[in-house]
Amino acid sequence: MADATSLPSAGFTMPRPDDFHLHLRDGPEMASVLGHMPRGVMHRVLIMPNLQPPVTTTEQALAYRARILEAKPADLDIEPLMTLYLTDKTPPEEIDAAVDSGAIAAVKLYPAGATTNSDSGVTDYDLVMPTLRRMAERGLPLCIHGEVTDPSVDVFEREAAFVSERLPLVLAAAPGLRIVLEHITTRAAAEFVASAGPNVAATITPQHLLFNRNELFRGGLRPHMYCLPILKTEDDRAALIDAVRSGSPKFFLGTDSAPHARGRKESDCGCAGIYSAHTALEAYALAFERAGCIDRLPAFASQHGADFYKVSRNTAEVTVSRKARTVPAELSFGEDCVVVPFLAGQELPWTVEATA
Ligand SMILES: [Zn+2]
Repeated sequence: MADATSLPSAGFTMPRPDDFHLHLRDGPEMASVLGHMPRGVMHRVLIMPNLQPPVTTTEQALAYRARILEAKPADLDIEPLMTLYLTDKTPPEEIDAAVDSGAIAAVKLYPAGATTNSDSGVTDYDLVMPTLRRMAERGLPLCIHGEVTDPSVDVFEREAAFVSERLPLVLAAAPGLRIVLEHITTRAAAEFVASAGPNVAATITPQHLLFNRNELFRGGLRPHMYCLPILKTEDDRAALIDAVRSGSPKFFLGTDSAPHARGRKESDCGCAGIYSAHTALEAYALAFERAGCIDRLPAFASQHGADFYKVSRNTAEVTVSRKARTVPAELSFGEDCVVVPFLAGQELPWTVEATA
């Protein structure tokens, strides 16, 4: 691997990345996503459990994992790390089953109603505290969609409100619990994570590094830039850039790639989600290069997350070349649908390929 302080501008190799936040969907949609994912790039992928119905038990997660492995093209060597969807009723015994299975890497907390298929999420934090404490005992991390769901709170303020009001309660109730604040979007979240103990980390998406909320309204309403948590201000984006530029091991790659059929985005009530799985590392490379810190990309993408999740660092490599590629305007999706990918139609300066 190239020296981390001076990556050559023409290209470089780095260890294969891992994606610690991916929505694979299920059935024909899952088959599409697996088909779009570049070969030999992402290795471990943390699979989100917000299917309908949600993946709430170890048994369901193992069945979902089997469906993924069955649908996976033979030349796509990803390793799915499964998650459980935390509900008010998840018993501590389910945590024991999850850990004992060896296939569950984390539990996901969605405040009820926060995002796509989150109706079964947590409504009363007191109810889940015994389960969170069991997770701390058994060493199973908690991934959090960190937004309050009170409709009276401004949509742009919901993450900051969660960070100041809810997160300290969770941390205090389950000391030692490893927590990943997912897809952080605000200065408040970045600063909280940076100042918290080593048990608290965060994932950052490519869209939140590249864009502020102006992009939602650039020349008109842009439904394909709508995700949750929503894009924030330029000051917030600058704080995320500072976080990755710092090289802190608390921040790592999680795309939150979340496909919806074009018709479900371009609608009276469009779904939240940005689909980046097909060119994720290229998009991150663009963001890091614009921020003048592409030397920080390899550890962000390939080391910090593996270390936090206590899985071995990847040794196989990918080649990141300064070779322009144009993102397709749309991709086939499920049965008779299409999905508009992140940065559709745009030319990206980097191409990522498995190192031969
Ligand atoms: Zn997500």
